[in-house]
Amino acid sequence: MTRRNPPQQRIPVAVLGATGAVGQTFIRLLENHAWFKVAEVAASERSAGKSYADAAHWLEGVMPADVASMTVVECKPEAVTCALVFSALDSSVAGDVECSFARDGRIVCSNARNHRMEPDVPLLIPEINAPHITVIEAQRKRLGWKGAIVTNANCSSTVAALALAPIHAKFGVDKVFVATMQAVSGAGYPGVASLDILGNVIPFIDGEEPKLQAEIAKLLGSVNGGLIESAPIRVTAHTNRVPVEHGHTVCMSIGLKTPATPEQVSDALANWIGDTAAVGLPSRPTHPIVVTTQRDRPQPRRDVGLGAGMTVTVGRIRPDELMDVKMVAMGSNTIRGAAGGAILNAELLFTKGYIPGA
Ligand code: NAP
Repeated sequence: MTRRNPPQQRIPVAVLGATGAVGQTFIRLLENHAWFKVAEVAASERSAGKSYADAAHWLEGVMPADVASMTVVECKPEAVTCALVFSALDSSVAGDVECSFARDGRIVCSNARNHRMEPDVPLLIPEINAPHITVIEAQRKRLGWKGAIVTNANCSSTVAALALAPIHAKFGVDKVFVATMQAVSGAGYPGVASLDILGNVIPFIDGEEPKLQAEIAKLLGSVNGGLIESAPIRVTAHTNRVPVEHGHTVCMSIGLKTPATPEQVSDALANWIGDTAAVGLPSRPTHPIVVTTQRDRPQPRRDVGLGAGMTVTVGRIRPDELMDVKMVAMGSNTIRGAAGGAILNAELLFTKGYIPGA
């Protein structure tokens, strides 16, 4: 498919779940976005009818004035006009609401887990698996709608998959042992109670381990017969909530199909460009992956802002006594792992002609 030129005018977009932690990150990232402009904000019945300023408990920086004065509407297709809809909805409601928008012909770029694992729903990271958007045709056929649902992965799966993709492309990943240290912002707002997390580690995040195990394989999979087929990679995951504000840290031990030294793995990561379909998209960082050789990095406090929150930093690449190689990856859960990832997905969809706009 040929690549379309950038839009001449900013395309109006709606944010569903605009009042939540991820919804607010959409509002911040879209404030000065080159292609998209927030035109509508939607949330629950509790917020509908209020001004955005009154409905949202704003968490970071200054609320954009034009959005502050917008009236929040309900998450119903009849209340929203935009053709492109970002969903930052709670998963308890996202499933049905996103379907209602796709059925109404909208393109839904979702953060929620509900539709991620369906083989005709792209679980998209443009640098890794841009061709996966072609399964939209199978989705439309199965569900009889003209719209589409495109998802981004769980925040930890995103960090892990970006760090694994160059290694998988060069040496083949056979199996992965992964242990996460996940920031509190990953639980939304108000999220985990302060008395549970301050000075503590919680070795349980509901539903998170199966997500990592399934999503990494799907992200690194391929399109076969019009559907996404997961890569034959075995993953075992431990997930932990830690008292860090932003940035998920992911420790991985990796078994390879073709043996490689830590130096070869480091070179594969450092020289990786990924799918050229993503090159030049406004939210793609210059370096999707940065390799650090500092012995005590990556660290969330120091590295989470790299590439405006879209870069994953990988370090401590070394031999593994049980498998082949081990390393640490860290990336922003709210930007790369949520709103920024969804915006990058929408940029790719625009260039491939899925989103209207001049
Ligand atoms: P959050 O802070 O709890 O926000 C949830 C949003 O959903 C709010 O805007 C809320 O609106 C809305 N909502 C709740 N119930 C609703 C209903 N019945 N009808 C319509 N809207 C409703 O959660 P979050 O952390 O932003 O996460 C949003 C989604 O992104 C979740 O599916 C989450 O799993 C996913 N995600 C989060 C992260 C992260 O790092 N936080 C990363 C990746 C993916 P009101 O304000 O009106 O209640």
